[in-house]
Amino acid sequence: MSLAAADSLMGIFGMKRVVVPKKAKRPKLTPLPTLIRKADTVTSEFIRRKHADEHGNVTCVSCGKVLHWKMAHCAHFIGRGKKSTRWLEENLKPACCGCNTFNKEYHMREYTLFMVDFYGKKFVDELRDMEKQVLSASQVRTLAEEAIDDYTAKTKELRNAA
Ligand SMILES: [Zn+2]
Repeated sequence: MSLAAADSLMGIFGMKRVVVPKKAKRPKLTPLPTLIRKADTVTSEFIRRKHADEHGNVTCVSCGKVLHWKMAHCAHFIGRGKKSTRWLEENLKPACCGCNTFNKEYHMREYTLFMVDFYGKKFVDELRDMEKQVLSASQVRTLAEEAIDDYTAKTKELRNAA
């Protein structure tokens, strides 16, 4: 008796053959926290290199201090906690460690003035809207993967141009 025939016969008696699914050999996904960390690292390097002059120096977005990009932080305008803007180029500028870490209030005030001045109030409002978006884990994964691909390629271009 064929399996199909056996199934239909069992079906008459209200029975069902139990099919044990074979374990699909899917490639293992990188854990999301690992992916996020990688996206942060790649994005940070790109942002700091992008803003560097021919000597490798960047200017702090808040206090205007000039420092080497390797010493600078990649400072988020909308905080890092918001995944929708975490790897958005326009949301990221170099800042000195003093402003970004120890002088938060001053830093955010100056950073906001810079953003409004540079992009305009409308764009800053759009960022504030994006900030409110709640993303699913798979959306965050997609954003992180895109950031890694995009900024890895862009950093390579910057390195080659240097
Ligand atoms: Zn500073």
